[in-house]
Amino acid sequence: MSACVMIVAGAALTTGAGSAGAAPQPSAAAAPTAQPTTDPSAEPTATADPVDEDFCNDAVRAAIDSGDAEAVVVAAGGGEAFREGVVSGAADGCIALNHPAWSWVVVNKQRPIEPIDFAPATVSPALYSPIGATLTQAAADALDELATAVDAAGQGQIGLFSGYRDYTSQGSAHDSLVDQMGEEAAEQTSARPGYSEHQLGLAADLVSCEGQSCGTIYDFGATPQGQWVDENAWKYGFIVRYGEHGSETTGYESEPWHLRYVGVELAKAYVDGGYETYEDFWGLPAATEYAS
Ligand SMILES: [Zn+2]
Repeated sequence: MSACVMIVAGAALTTGAGSAGAAPQPSAAAAPTAQPTTDPSAEPTATADPVDEDFCNDAVRAAIDSGDAEAVVVAAGGGEAFREGVVSGAADGCIALNHPAWSWVVVNKQRPIEPIDFAPATVSPALYSPIGATLTQAAADALDELATAVDAAGQGQIGLFSGYRDYTSQGSAHDSLVDQMGEEAAEQTSARPGYSEHQLGLAADLVSCEGQSCGTIYDFGATPQGQWVDENAWKYGFIVRYGEHGSETTGYESEPWHLRYVGVELAKAYVDGGYETYEDFWGLPAATEYAS
């Protein structure tokens, strides 16, 4: 349980429900610099606040205003508390899983990016990329930390084979795979434009490299780099989005090279919870087929 006390910090809080006129009694722990109360002996009481108000409290709303996804999750009580809030509906008033600018967004064959041609600002991470791939700032920073950690662990170098792809280039990439493999096989490994995490700037396809000589994405899972990344990527905010056992849910075959940035808090909750897919994590239905 997250202890969401009503925090009376600075900003005016417009209390929705018609609470009685009496001055609110800070009911539980940690009311920071509250006004001196005349009754310090009051027992902490377990108030039956509606859960929804509890989740979307001032601290969470302030973090949302700051635009910092990780801060929002922390304000909600951490990755597992955030997940529970979303799954239970308690977070409905302030969190949506379909907003493409937040690193928790869920995109799959049933959940197109909204808007379909969304294009985030992206930057080039420092690690080597044969094609100069980019990611959102948060994902790029996290990937550079991961690359440094792989190296520091003595596992060698990773490179960014593919990162952000805009709507148009995702369409070309998908078309060319359909030409090469046929539609059925291509659909198991490549998303249609508007349905790809690469269009969010939050997905990184990794390869192992030595200098500027890199392997293929298909080799990655079997390399020392790939094995270390599989175990440790969560510490840097990434999950392996299409794992070995998830294809019945995701509609994609295992892709050990495709990392999805979700932030450290959510990645930790994902791994701690033993989830096989991001859909399961959020209590969402399987998405093996396109909605239309
Ligand atoms: Zn990918």
